[in-house]
Amino acid sequence: MQHAPFMERCLHLARLGAGWAAPNPMVGAVLVRDGIVLAEGWHHAAGRPHAEVECMNAYGDGPIPSDAVLYVNLEPCAHHGRTPPCADLLIARGVRHVVVAHADPFPQVAGRGVERLRAAGVRVEVGVCEAEARWINRRFLTSLAQQRPYIVLKWARSMDGFLDRHPRSERGVQRISSPATDVLVHRWRTEEQAILVGGRTVENDDPALTVRHVEGRQPLRMVLDRAERTPSSSKVFDGSVPTLLFTEHPRADVRAEQFIVPLAADPLDTLLDELRRRNIRSVMVEGGSMLLGHFLRRGLWDEARVITGAVAFGAGTAGPDMPKAPARTLRIGTDRIDLVVQGDKPADTWCW
Ligand SMILES: [Zn+2]
Repeated sequence: MQHAPFMERCLHLARLGAGWAAPNPMVGAVLVRDGIVLAEGWHHAAGRPHAEVECMNAYGDGPIPSDAVLYVNLEPCAHHGRTPPCADLLIARGVRHVVVAHADPFPQVAGRGVERLRAAGVRVEVGVCEAEARWINRRFLTSLAQQRPYIVLKWARSMDGFLDRHPRSERGVQRISSPATDVLVHRWRTEEQAILVGGRTVENDDPALTVRHVEGRQPLRMVLDRAERTPSSSKVFDGSVPTLLFTEHPRADVRAEQFIVPLAADPLDTLLDELRRRNIRSVMVEGGSMLLGHFLRRGLWDEARVITGAVAFGAGTAGPDMPKAPARTLRIGTDRIDLVVQGDKPADTWCW
């Protein structure tokens, strides 16, 4: 039996939960017999049923053939969370063969799902398409392993390497990337739980940091501004989506939740601790140059996405150096987008 095509189908289904599943992992499940798909399911969103439950519900009430195989990209759960354990459900429904991409490192599962299935006589295989499966759930896996969110650094630079032009004439008019690339950036935003910028970026560019060009989940907007330089009229303080301001002194003039960062502390440690406390598994840092440089110098990053536009500024704020050679390069019109990864290169069947 060829397992990989069905596990790849699981991963496609899992990706339908991108953004919505967090802080849970993205999971898909496919029930197959004799190379024919009988039923499919995926984890639509946090608080909704797990992929295995969706797949069993899609199959319906009839008996499951004893030679059917259930593919699922993450080890079935063995603990009582908001729902009963999926391992018990599969056993009760008569599934006799389960193929898993990799174990779930979540402390309450961590091998117990596979153990429980095997103890009930279910044949379990682990390790099919493991690299691809780990790549799509890199936010979940990294946040558990490192006890901090997965950190994506993103910046756009002119072809001569500047983030913006000097002197500035108006806020927010220095286009670098094309509208088509902006659509991709908005897709990226829907896939992270939070977006972070420094106060200077808000002061200079006045970004809204919302998702507008695609449908999807709005991430938490975050501003790190200890110097109180951000104007209260900035778009990030319009109250339209949840916003968190990291500041040294409480401010009465902004519409945002506030978190006080002591002056003596490195704000990145305080900030990442607070995100971990909130169960936020990923953050995309969108500027500016100083904040990006701080993350890079501290080695606190997992991925960098660098957009190089077709404009030349001649002078301005220099962007950070590319921290490593890109693992992948994508072209959209005249824009070039480099993906740099800290750890292993993504598998060949990778996606952003
Ligand atoms: Zn489950």
